[in-house]
Amino acid sequence: MTIAKETSELLSKLGVSGDALGGGDLIVRTPVTGEQIAALKQMSGAQAGKAIGAAHAAFQKWRLVPGPRRGELVRLLGEELRAHKAELGRLVSIEVGKIPSEGLGEVQEMIDICDFAVGLSRQLYGLTIATERPGHRMMETWHPLGVVGVISAFNFPVAVWSWNTALALVCGDAVVWKPSEKTPLTALACAAIFARAVERFGSDAPEGLLQVLIGGPAVGEVLVDHPKVPLVSATGSTRMGRAVGPRLAKRFARAVLELGGNNAGIVCPTADLDMALRAIAFGAMGTAGQRCTTLRRLFVHESVYDQIVPRLKKAYESVSVGNPLESSALVGPLVDKAAFEGMQKALKEAEAAGGKVTGGGRFESGHAEAYYAHPALVEMPKQVAPVTEETFAPILYVMKYSDFDTALELHNAVGAGLSSSIFTRDLQESERFLGADGSDCGIANVNIGTSGAEIGGAFGGEKETGGGRESGSDAWKAYMRRATNTINYSAALPLAQGVSFDI
Ligand code: NAD
Repeated sequence: MTIAKETSELLSKLGVSGDALGGGDLIVRTPVTGEQIAALKQMSGAQAGKAIGAAHAAFQKWRLVPGPRRGELVRLLGEELRAHKAELGRLVSIEVGKIPSEGLGEVQEMIDICDFAVGLSRQLYGLTIATERPGHRMMETWHPLGVVGVISAFNFPVAVWSWNTALALVCGDAVVWKPSEKTPLTALACAAIFARAVERFGSDAPEGLLQVLIGGPAVGEVLVDHPKVPLVSATGSTRMGRAVGPRLAKRFARAVLELGGNNAGIVCPTADLDMALRAIAFGAMGTAGQRCTTLRRLFVHESVYDQIVPRLKKAYESVSVGNPLESSALVGPLVDKAAFEGMQKALKEAEAAGGKVTGGGRFESGHAEAYYAHPALVEMPKQVAPVTEETFAPILYVMKYSDFDTALELHNAVGAGLSSSIFTRDLQESERFLGADGSDCGIANVNIGTSGAEIGGAFGGEKETGGGRESGSDAWKAYMRRATNTINYSAALPLAQGVSFDI
């Protein structure tokens, strides 16, 4: 069976009609072979505006449904995802080229966030705060915010939607989703799965609670500029964030920006090198280097450099690359030709700066339009371009260090600030790394790689990563509006700060 045929069968099982897959000019290709699997119709600006209007109308009703009842819809969504995990996971592998365990893992992450959000639906609470005025009570309440715009990247085509949507729904919001133009099919599948949950939920779920906008940046801009969208959660490159951030600021909308990473690890003299090796290999080569949290820079202490780097090189030389749908390869394809060319350009630049490259060439898959690369390990004499920028491909730059403070300084000396790791059994180094003058990233790990975050923690990064937080902890607060309420139950009207104003 061709991949195109398998794709349409999977989509049909998930509830997406075959009519939606053809007749348009948005050509969808699988990176696995490069072949076309669909040609979708893109939405016009007017259609996008209409969809946003419908979501706003749904929000006005949804906000009045009690939080725990809203949680029930997300519980049903989690059940539907459990029931369709195999099909959706396979579709992720087809559309993005992820190996099967990562395709399924992405769906598991969706299930996990649904579970988290169901619990949260009974915990959307504010504080009661001491007031200086007698006979008064002060408290804060959290209310639904409005339509939440979600813009997502190709590399986590469905998990990012679910992180935002599960929280937004329990918070009483409607969602308008602009998936990556490279991965619209998994978005259609999610919309169909969501529709089943709504059907089971019953009539107090208003129509139009989830809208999907098919298209590229132009459709995304309609969402970004729309006055009825008080929050846009945008995941993608820092370049996209630079375009979207100011537009949102211009109309005082909230932004959750989840942008590029240039994540680093430090391997210290006391590190468990076996453990570090495995964590580094997964962090740097997993998902073919196409995670925002991929390990891209490694600082290795000179005393262990010759013990770990040769072993790493061996792992790079022997890692299996290949078709994720037909083999047990650990590294699948890059998303497209541009990604492969970007990788080759960075490797050339690194060589010109004195880097010694292991791997990095094209893996011949037998499909001229598919772009597989052998992961590259590059020993660099120092941290100069291209090390300082994110190249969205499996390149790990390795640098030797002798002094911990210098390593920490270099670790923080790049624009991005998403994820970071230290491998050490020295308590002082570990605590320094996690402390106020340590890693400047939103995620800082000890003896764990940079990628593979759990949904319970807040996810996001600092600096050019955009500053947004999604998923667990108190990330839900971005999806609600907070009101401070002061109630006077006395017969007097005392003013705060002792001000008198007698008329
Ligand atoms: P991209 O920036 O090319 O596209 C991301 C999304 O933004 C797409 O849906 C695209 O259509 C949309 N977009 C682009 N320009 C826009 C504009 N001007 N207005 C509105 N929408 C616009 O990113 P990509 O290639 O799909 O994904 C890879 C990048 O995403 C990497 O940099 C990676 O680090 C980053 N990423 C970050 C996170 C995170 O949580 N921090 C997660 C996944 C991916």
